[in-house]
Amino acid sequence: MNTDAFDREHLWHPYTSAVNPLPVYKVSHAQGSTIVLEDGTALIDGMSSWWCAIHGYNHPVLNQAASDQLQKMSHVMFGGFTHDPAIELGKLLLQIAPPTMDRIFYADSGSVAVEVALKMAVQYWAVQGRTQKQNIATIRQGYHGDTWNAMSVCDPVTGMHQIFGTSLPTRLFVSAPESGFYDEWDDADIHELEQLFATNHHEMAAFIIEPIVQGAGGMRFYHPQYLVELKRLCEQYGVLLIFDEIATGFGRTGKMFAWEHANVQPDIMCIGKGLTGGYMTLSAVLATAKVAEVLSSGSPGVFMHGPTFMGNPLACAVARSSTQLLLSQDWQGTVQHIEAQLNQQLAPAKSWSWVRDVRVLGTIGVIEMQEPVDMGALQKEFVKRGIWVRPFGRLVYIMPPYVISDDELRTLTTELLAVVQQLGGGQ
Ligand code: PMP
Repeated sequence: MNTDAFDREHLWHPYTSAVNPLPVYKVSHAQGSTIVLEDGTALIDGMSSWWCAIHGYNHPVLNQAASDQLQKMSHVMFGGFTHDPAIELGKLLLQIAPPTMDRIFYADSGSVAVEVALKMAVQYWAVQGRTQKQNIATIRQGYHGDTWNAMSVCDPVTGMHQIFGTSLPTRLFVSAPESGFYDEWDDADIHELEQLFATNHHEMAAFIIEPIVQGAGGMRFYHPQYLVELKRLCEQYGVLLIFDEIATGFGRTGKMFAWEHANVQPDIMCIGKGLTGGYMTLSAVLATAKVAEVLSSGSPGVFMHGPTFMGNPLACAVARSSTQLLLSQDWQGTVQHIEAQLNQQLAPAKSWSWVRDVRVLGTIGVIEMQEPVDMGALQKEFVKRGIWVRPFGRLVYIMPPYVISDDELRTLTTELLAVVQQLGGGQ
């Protein structure tokens, strides 16, 4: 059996049929902003491999960090041991995290970080005897991962609630804010939120939200004032605030983390994706000293979670190196430069009747169509034109690695617009 047939017949790929899958393209290697297929086709990367490859591929500095760490150890258990990669990464993270963050829990992936954060919130109240505070609230159109509890706080319509039904915990949802990032703030956006807190605070352990950018749930950019109001309500009613910065972290929105747009600090924060520069899976849950102290009080006196690969030295070493690399550059200038180009180069699509909206924040450029697109067909066309873009639903979006050159970005946006224009079918 040739290798492609083996893949088709035995390997599961995300969000496609196992028996009649969408085509996959076989990658031979990747370098900088370019992904090279086995047949030699070079694709300019518009996805950063689902938001994470911030420095591009095959980066010499990250390669060095991985290979240096491999000479020492790739893994030892974190129960009873510690090591420099975890410590040094932790020091760096606390420098760039919200000032109130004090404790770091390393976890395996974004979804696991969300599970950990939700567990922390429930245990936080339970050890204080507030055992009725077990539920989680969130806004619609969010996305927090594919594991059980992460799934339960994803948008109930576009998420997986219909499939998993009552096997999923029932969460408290309010509408996502209508005021966009660049709009005037409309106070009406918090009415439902106020109602939710007033009615349900006694059962709410935490409110989880992606700050500023709702990613996989709809690529929406909402107004920072919403976070200010949310924080006020959390404090007023005694509810922990969890920021899911897994997609927004490490400069993607123009700030190191998106909370900075609103200057609102959470009690617990999840990071992942860009943490290792996209080299391997690692996430972290950051918490305030208060959360850590409460979790360590009462019974059982410890936080009940401890994954096998917690604090994996190889991943921590690469994450440390990736974060250092980011901080050693004018990353803000780079992100602003990409943002300006995206604004200019995607603007023509604004006037097309089959396009509902074009929006840009940081290095995220979104073209929202009036109708859902055929992802498989579009992807084929993108590959033909030498770019890598993976749309979903009505959203055709790009978030290139920060190392993308002006020429590469121009090619990416030009080819993207050409395909989107074709979708108008001569209108
Ligand atoms: N939270 C957010 C905001 C995400 O965008 C994602 C991944 N797209 C996750 C959580 C889950 O991360 P992972 O895929 O690493 O489990």
